[in-house]
Amino acid sequence: MKKLMSMIMVVAMIFVFVGCGQNNTASETVTEEATETATEETTEEQVVNIYTDRHYDTDQALYDTFTEETGIQVNVVKAKSDELLERLKIEGEETEADLVVTSDVGRLYRAQNEGLIKPFSSELIKSNVPENLRSTEDFWTALTVRARVIAYAKDRVNPEDLSTYEALTEPEWAGKVVIRSSSNIYNQSLMASFIALNGEEAAKEWAMGIVNNMARTPEGNDRDQMKAVVGGVGDVAIVNTYYVGKLLNSSDEYEVEVGNKIGVFFPNQETNGTHINISGAGLTAHGKNSDNAEKLVEFLTSEKAQSDYASVNYEYPVNLAVEPSELLQSWGEFQVQEIDLALLGKHNADAVRLMNEAGWK
Ligand code: FE
Repeated sequence: MKKLMSMIMVVAMIFVFVGCGQNNTASETVTEEATETATEETTEEQVVNIYTDRHYDTDQALYDTFTEETGIQVNVVKAKSDELLERLKIEGEETEADLVVTSDVGRLYRAQNEGLIKPFSSELIKSNVPENLRSTEDFWTALTVRARVIAYAKDRVNPEDLSTYEALTEPEWAGKVVIRSSSNIYNQSLMASFIALNGEEAAKEWAMGIVNNMARTPEGNDRDQMKAVVGGVGDVAIVNTYYVGKLLNSSDEYEVEVGNKIGVFFPNQETNGTHINISGAGLTAHGKNSDNAEKLVEFLTSEKAQSDYASVNYEYPVNLAVEPSELLQSWGEFQVQEIDLALLGKHNADAVRLMNEAGWK
C-alpha cells in the first residue's frame, strides 16, 4: 500500500528538466508531446540530463561552466532521492535521465542494486577519484565528501570533554543533545555505519542513549540544530561540516553569529574515526547521452570543479590533488571512519528500523 502510494505520488509530481540559466518560474508541466520534441532536439544539440537531490547553488554554477567549456547543455530535475529513484524505475528504458546525483551513498547503493545505474568506463574519473570513494565495478563515484561531526557551543562546552559519538549517550549529556529526525538520510547513514562497525545491538543502544539525552524532540535541519545550540536549547549537535561553513558565510547576520559561536569537533579520533558520507553520481542504465554524462563527471571530479565544491560549498574534495578550503583546513585534519561506503546503503533499512524501535522521532 505504502509503495503504491509513493508511486502515485511520483507520477502525480510535476517533473521538468530545468535548463541551464533558465528561470525556474518558467517551468511548467511538460506534456507528452513536448517531451518527445525535447528529446528529439536534445539528442541533436548535445545535452546531458540529470536527476539530482542536491540543493546547492554551487552545482548550477559548475554545470554552467561545463556548458561553456563543452557546448553540452545540462538539464536538471531536482527532487528527493527516493522520488528520483522511483521515477527511474517507472520510466525504465524510456527515461530521459543520463546521470543520477544524490547526497547520500545509500541511495546510490540502492540504485546499483535495482539495476538503475551502469558502470563508468572513463579512466579519467578513475584517476580523479580514489578507489575507496568509488563503488566496486565503478557503478558510482563520489563527487564530494562530508563529515558528520559534533558541533558544540564554544562558550559552554570544553572540547576536551568531547570524545566519541558514543560518549554523547553518557548521563553528563542528558538533555543537552540536539539532532534532527531519524527520517533524515544523514542520520540513517550514521546509524548504518554503527551497525556495520559495532553490530545491531550496540547501534540500537546508541540510538536509545541519544534519544534519552535529547534536549528536544527532533525538528529542523542541520543548521537549525546549531541555532538551537547557540540559543541554549542544548549544548551539542550532530551536523554535517559544510553547514557550519554555510552559516559562517550566510547573508543573514544571525546565522553568521551562530556560525562563530559553534565549534567543530571530529569524534572517534582515538577509536574508529569520524563518520563521512558522500555526494555521488551514477550513469543511468538507460541514458541516451552516457558519453556526455561521463564527460560531466570527469569535469565535476577535475581539480577546477573540486576546488569550487570545497571553497563555495565547504565540502571535502574527492580529488586528492585539491586541498580542502582554508575554512576546512582550519578545523584540522581528521581520521575518517574506515568502512566500505556501500555498507551505509546495505544497512539503511535496518538503521531506520532500529531508530524507530529506539523511539527516535
Ligand atoms: Fe545537505
